[in-house]
Amino acid sequence: MSKYNQVIYANINESNSWTLDEYLKQGGYSVWKQILSDQSNKTSEWVIEEVKKSGLRGRGGAGFPTGLKWSFMPKNDDQKYIVCNSDESEPGTCHDRDILKYNPHALVEGMAIAGYAIGATVGYNYVRGEFMLECYPRIDAAVKDAYDAGLLGVNVLDSGIDFDLYNFLGAGAYICGEETGLLESLEGKQGKPRFKPPFPANYGLYGKPTTVNNTQTLATIPKILEKGAKWYADFGTEKSPGTLIFSISGHVNKPGNYELPLGISFEEVIDVAGGILDGKKLKAVIPGGSSTKVLPAEIIQNCTMDYESLQDADSALGTGAMVVISEGTCMVELLKRISRFYYAESCGQCTPCREGTGWLYRILDRITNGQGKESDLALLVDVAGRIEGNTICAFGDASAWPVQSFIKHYHHEFEYMIQNKGKTLAA
Ligand code: SF4
Repeated sequence: MSKYNQVIYANINESNSWTLDEYLKQGGYSVWKQILSDQSNKTSEWVIEEVKKSGLRGRGGAGFPTGLKWSFMPKNDDQKYIVCNSDESEPGTCHDRDILKYNPHALVEGMAIAGYAIGATVGYNYVRGEFMLECYPRIDAAVKDAYDAGLLGVNVLDSGIDFDLYNFLGAGAYICGEETGLLESLEGKQGKPRFKPPFPANYGLYGKPTTVNNTQTLATIPKILEKGAKWYADFGTEKSPGTLIFSISGHVNKPGNYELPLGISFEEVIDVAGGILDGKKLKAVIPGGSSTKVLPAEIIQNCTMDYESLQDADSALGTGAMVVISEGTCMVELLKRISRFYYAESCGQCTPCREGTGWLYRILDRITNGQGKESDLALLVDVAGRIEGNTICAFGDASAWPVQSFIKHYHHEFEYMIQNKGKTLAA
């Protein structure tokens, strides 16, 4: 059996894979129906235990164990919500949109099951605004078709269980991918992250207990329960079980999304993506989306693609969005582009992030324009250090880590450009 494309992407190449008919043909909604008809055996505790046993960790970047997160929800009769974060916006990350587009019913079923597990009768799927044309119509149709088939709504299939599901289209702000910014936006306010604690499990949407999970995380649930926790866990390593959809971009011959087992070697990932473009040598990789720390070739080549190995290398698996960088790339210009993004997307709520991201971008801009000063490298490191750990949400860290890691590994390129009035060493 191939190790590739076995869980969420297993049926993605079937024609009309996004339709209810095709999903049912592939055994879809069987787990949801089993739960509805056999609640004494398929209890919410059973669902949570199975998900815990599978070792599934949140695929939105933080990698928090999903079953454990669900178990934090209070066991009272209060209104609870399950919220899906489909606001995929991290530069380099592009796999959730394929789930919405090609396997939307897996997400609908996963949300219904998650709602049952945590006691939520209402779910919201927050979809990135830019997906309005690309994949929103597919997930919108999937929810409508599931209602028409009696799989959602009040007293689903005469089970006594209610579950309503709504799609919500965002307005295109990166910070709404931060879970509390997302909840604010769902409530109709500006998407500005909240102080934590309290965490959403205690004070979430409309102040009610809420679990926010990522699209890939939720769409994985039906297959885990259908095939068994062990089946899923066996794809990966002991500490990083299962599969992850890697979005591989940059200087490779076949960029794209590939569902691969966790723990796979870096070399194999590059093989899957067709090798380095134009037969060039690898220079560096940003392994998990633009906010993760860059790793030079000599480090990433010894890594396996899992949470532990990349953490040991002083970076992170993040969303599994690998940006592959070949020789000849100017790391100063690349960092400037990344910093421009964080400067533009800061919500402006806290001073170190609002002011610091602007400083980082402007200093990098003057270096690339040939007006850099000898003191600029120390200033960049100082500003990044003052942002890191001093902000309301993790966006601040995300803006600081690229600066710190690029300067750590490519100090000589920055120095050369400053001393040579904007000329790059990498050309
Ligand atoms: Fe907003 Fe940045 Fe503060 Fe996050 S860290 S709340 S994005 S200003």
